[in-house]
Amino acid sequence: MAHALHEYDGLCRNIHGHSYNLEITISGNVFRSLGHPKDGMVMDFHELKMLVKAHITEKLDHALMVNSLIDPHQLEALMTTTSRIIVVDFQPTTENILQYIADTLNPLFPAGVSLYSIRLFETVTSFAEWFASDNP
Ligand SMILES: [Zn+2]
Repeated sequence: MAHALHEYDGLCRNIHGHSYNLEITISGNVFRSLGHPKDGMVMDFHELKMLVKAHITEKLDHALMVNSLIDPHQLEALMTTTSRIIVVDFQPTTENILQYIADTLNPLFPAGVSLYSIRLFETVTSFAEWFASDNP
């Protein structure tokens, strides 16, 4: 995904991309039903992957995320060259994108399953982490 930090006093004010790496940890009770194919699961990994893929990665992959404070003429110009622009009401930092991901995913989990933490790597050495316990 590409982003640009609005009015930032460094190179990240320019549109640039990252190969973000997202790690999702969920919590919940282990389903117990002897003989059931999903016995022993908190949530089927496949269902979790499909949920994250449908609501996060397919939406953000190869998109450009910009702050809604962007100059409208600049936004209009960008829209002539790409159709995948996500305008958000926040500075698209890793920390804010984490909150966006948490807010998007939280209501989508099946009963008894919830987010425990999210880790988003912007680069191999730079990441931010979100914990449900810090966001009651
Ligand atoms: Zn960046």
